[in-house]
Amino acid sequence: MHNVVIIGSGPAGLTAAIYAARANLVPLLIEGWMAGGQLTTTTEVENYPGFAKGIMGPELMKEMRSQAERFGTVFKIGDATSVDLRTRPFQIIVDGEEALETKTLIIATGASPITLGLSNEKRLWGHGVSSCATCDGFFFKGKELVVVGGGDSAMEEATFLTKFATKVSVVHRRDKLRASKIMQDRAMKNEKIAFVWNSVVEDILGQDVVAGVRIRNVVTGKAWDLPCSGFFLAIGHHPNTALFNGQLKMDGAGYIVTNHGTATDVPGVFAAGDVQDPHYRQAITAAGTGGMAAIDAERFLEASGQG
Ligand code: NAP
Repeated sequence: MHNVVIIGSGPAGLTAAIYAARANLVPLLIEGWMAGGQLTTTTEVENYPGFAKGIMGPELMKEMRSQAERFGTVFKIGDATSVDLRTRPFQIIVDGEEALETKTLIIATGASPITLGLSNEKRLWGHGVSSCATCDGFFFKGKELVVVGGGDSAMEEATFLTKFATKVSVVHRRDKLRASKIMQDRAMKNEKIAFVWNSVVEDILGQDVVAGVRIRNVVTGKAWDLPCSGFFLAIGHHPNTALFNGQLKMDGAGYIVTNHGTATDVPGVFAAGDVQDPHYRQAITAAGTGGMAAIDAERFLEASGQG
């Protein structure tokens, strides 16, 4: 039986692992289908303290993983496919077959990109539709692209994509961006980026690959087609909590509710990072709550005489 199982390998999960390993709890970390989490699909991280010149997201995650490994974290490649938090020890099934038992659980399953829900979005996913500029930008050298969204992600993706594309149109549903000032300014100064304000994407056009998007101006009601070879989604994320439905208290949007640090409503189960944070959603806040979750788990084990 394990002292601590951590589900998720983003900044929250890996920081929890570093702290739990250094507390001699020999944590087991289930990496999930997207090892390293969302930062592995991002470009340069400029606001993570300690890296004055910035660091590439995948590099930062590699460093965190090595640090967790150095102190004795055991990594398990695979997905947690079911959990039972009603029994003690808690039961976790990995990839539908392997059963694990643990005294405490740290949930750091993060969040996933939100899609528009258009049928052609699904059909053309991987054929011009993407939510990861870092992964797919390279394929659009010399092409025109569309990014939807008005937050930091949209600015970051659009700016990154100008390395390859001749033009990037950012379609935003309002006339004001949500993105931070510095990211807005950078995108606005970029001559390759054009903004399409007060507009929504109604359809994605193309037979086998993306050929354009149908846009509707929400003020005038006018619809028009904008030709493009790639369509990038940057409209936010939803928490990856389906695995815990009905077993943990969640808010209306599906985020795990935590109290007194990282405690959930099931004693011994802790949550860290984007899975419990609809407000900040930063790498540094995820890492911070990951460290807190490990300390909370350690104290729980001690207080319950299992430490
Ligand atoms: P976000 O801040 O929630 O922004 C989502 C954007 O998509 C908003 O502009 C929103 O419009 C728009 N949107 C949402 N649903 C839509 C829909 N159905 N159709 C059209 N547009 C839609 O998400 P994010 O940009 O992914 O950022 C998430 C968090 O990560 C933020 O805290 C951000 O600061 C952080 N982040 C930081 C960095 C960085 O610092 N380097 C980079 C990326 C992300 P409205 O504005 O009208 O609501």
